[in-house]
Parts: sequence; C-alpha cells; structure tokens
Amino acid sequence: MSKVLVIGAGGVSSVAVHKMAMNPEIFPEIHLASRTVAKCDAIAASVKQRTGQTVATYALDAEDVPATVGLIRAIGPSLVVNLALPYQDLPIMDACLEAGVDYLDTANYEPKDEAKFEYGWQWAYHDRFKEAGIMALLGSGFDPGVTSVFTMWLKKHKLKTIRTLDILDCNGGDHGQAFATNFNPEINIREVTAPARHWEKGEWVESPAMSNRQSFDFEGVGPRNMYLMYHEELESLAKFVPEMERARFWMTFGDEYIKHLTVLQNVGMTRIDPVIYEGREIIPLQFLKAVLPEPASLGPTTKGKTNIGVIATGEALDGSGSKTFYIKNICDHEEAYAETGNQAVSYTTGVPAMIGSAMVLTGKWRGEGVLNMEQFDPDPFMAMLNGHGLPWTVEELDGPLGF
Ligand code: NDP
Repeated sequence: MSKVLVIGAGGVSSVAVHKMAMNPEIFPEIHLASRTVAKCDAIAASVKQRTGQTVATYALDAEDVPATVGLIRAIGPSLVVNLALPYQDLPIMDACLEAGVDYLDTANYEPKDEAKFEYGWQWAYHDRFKEAGIMALLGSGFDPGVTSVFTMWLKKHKLKTIRTLDILDCNGGDHGQAFATNFNPEINIREVTAPARHWEKGEWVESPAMSNRQSFDFEGVGPRNMYLMYHEELESLAKFVPEMERARFWMTFGDEYIKHLTVLQNVGMTRIDPVIYEGREIIPLQFLKAVLPEPASLGPTTKGKTNIGVIATGEALDGSGSKTFYIKNICDHEEAYAETGNQAVSYTTGVPAMIGSAMVLTGKWRGEGVLNMEQFDPDPFMAMLNGHGLPWTVEELDGPLGF
C-alpha cells in the first residue's frame, strides 16, 4: 500500500493534501508534517470534513536531517512530497537519500542568503539518487511543472521542433488588499525583484527587473500588463529542448503591486542581508513577510481567474510548415476556494503536485536519479489535469507574439 509523506503546511500543501484525499485509490494513506503542527491539524480537519479521509500530522523542522530521516523511517512512505520552502529542498533530499525513498518538489533550491535559484544544486544529487535506485522529480507545480509538460505535449503532438517559446502567467485575481502576494511573500518578492533573464541563441540575456513590459489580452481576464522575468523552468526547457532559439517567461502585475514593490525596494524593506535593529539582527524581507497578509488568508476574498499558458512556434509535425500553438489553463479563484478552501494560485500549484505524486506512485513516471518534468511522457499527466480541476485547451495562432 503506497503511503505518502507531505512536508510543509501552507496553501500549496493544503490543496495537494485535499486532492490526494479525494483520490484514495492512489493515496490510501497520507501523512503531513511541518514546522507548525497546528497548521497540519487545520488541514487535516478540513480534509476530514470535506472528504471523510484521515490525515496523520507531525511537527517537523525539515532542516534537521536526522529528525526527517527518523520520521521517514517511522512512517515508511513510498514518496516524500516537499511542499515547504525552496530552502528545505537540499536537507529533505539528503534525508530521502539516507532513508532510500523517492522525492518530489515544486520549486528549485535557493540559499537563504542569496536570491539565486537554479537547478545546479539539485542536479548535483543525480548520481547519488541513481546509485540508491530512487528518483527525485523536480518542479511539479504549475510553473515550473505544467508549463514544461505543456511544452513537451506540443512537441509530442504538434511540433517537430520548437523555435520560440513564451510562457505567459496571468493572475487576474483581486483580493481587495492594497498589497499582498499570492504565495509565500518572501519567495515571491525575491523572485520578482531579481534581474530578468531569457534564453536566446544559446545563451542567457539579462535585463533589469521589470524593465520589459508588454500588454496581452488574456482570455477570461482581459488585457493586462505582463513583465519579462526569469523563471526556473527556462533552465530545464533550454536543456531538454535544445533546438529552442528563444525562450521567455512573462508574468502579469497590476500597477498598484508595482507601486508598492518599488517603494518597499527603495526604502530597503526587500533586503535579504541582516541589519541591526534594537541590538539584534533582522532580515528586512523576513520582517516584511511578518506584516503582510498570509497568502492563505486571501482565499475567501479573492475573485477572478488565473490564466497560465505556453505559446510555441516551430515546424509542424505533419509537415505543413511553421505553426504556432497556444496551450493554457484558466482557473477560477472562487471555484478553487469552494473546493479546497484555498485560492487559485495555491490550487494551480497543489493539483500538479498531487498529479506528479500520482505519476511516481503509480509507476507511470519511473526513473532513477534527479529528473525534470520534461523527461517524461506528458500524456498521462495531461489526462489527469483534465480530470482533476485544471482542464486545458490548445489552439492554433496566426504566428508568434509580435514583440
Ligand atoms: P507557505 O509559506 O504558505 O507554506 C510553506 C510551509 O512550509 C509552511 O507551512 C511552513 O511552516 C513550512 N516550513 C517552512 N520552513 C520549514 C521547515 N524548516 N521545516 C518544516 N516546514 C517548514 O508557502 P506556499 O504553500 O505558498 O508554497 C509552498 C512551496 O510551493 C514553495 O516552495 C513555493 O516556492 C512553491 N510554489 C511553487 C509554484 C509553482 O507553480 N511551481 C507556485 C507557488 C509556490 P510555518 O507555517 O511554520 O511557517
């Protein structure tokens, strides 16, 4: 019987655990551990009420490797699903190696003292995972995650080669707050204040954060400003789709969000180096997180939709010349909240975390070593998206984006 141990008890975890409990044939036994056990208990209570399933809960500091190994050995799961923060990726991978159990996450490792995320640290575990006969599946959220699966589906069914790729991430939700982030504020602000980077002709091209703005009319949302950003799936896509001439990632931000972020940055509140305050060290960005609304608290008030998709251009598989396809999902914040008690940003990440876990547990995706989403057959994952709350559509466009 396959048991799963989920680590972390934020919004993404809450969705993933609810969705696992709704699929007991794949997830007959769910264990949930996090730093604050009360948050695990709250998720377990909601799961019980909504599905009747029982979730066992534990307090765990996942940066304490021996404690994590001890918990894994006591439970004996087939898979550890890391839905804590990117800082915990390496300690949890260390624990999985020691205990000999498969690993899955949704975001790549990031050191606390440097706003830099890349797969290098985790890819360095490949040989050790392979030797241990276990697998790590990296980045099974929406972006990264579904965006890579969308791309590989287009490559399998529509395009022989992909010349240009644009990933478009729009959150058209309105939470009614002057300023809030829709997932962990510390991770979110580190991501959006980093310089933009895109892949062009075999190298990374860097530009200042938020300096390239374009308008795009998103179905279900309307016209929005989107900004060129760096995002981690660009790294794995550049590796696994080597013929790509250009790959870019765009995310929408409202003017109010940009205004607040600019002020916070200018006054130093987004700094991640320690400053002395009343005789003790504090990290301004961590202090800022403490005063911002918890993303989970935005669920009841958020209205509107998310629209995340991929536009790819290349040579058609059927020999009909150059073609452009747009593949996307539209998710409604209020519907997501009604189903799991969490808004659509957590929902669009937690559902793919559940599906990636199902791929590993059912053996549909199997390998040894540290592996990315691009390395597996997209079809069974795409089929589950349709059946578990994130339906997708594909359409042909006249051509690639005009900018
Ligand atoms: P939250 O901040 O809401 O939740 C994080 C959870 O991890 C909290 O319960 C926190 O505990 C727990 N945690 C933190 N440190 C530790 C530790 N040392 N040991 C055990 N537990 C710990 O984040 P989200 O749910 O919004 O995001 C979860 C993950 O999903 C992040 O890695 C994020 O980057 C990723 N993500 C990925 C996306 C994608 O599309 N691929 C999109 C959005 C998010 P406590 O409650 O005590 O603080």
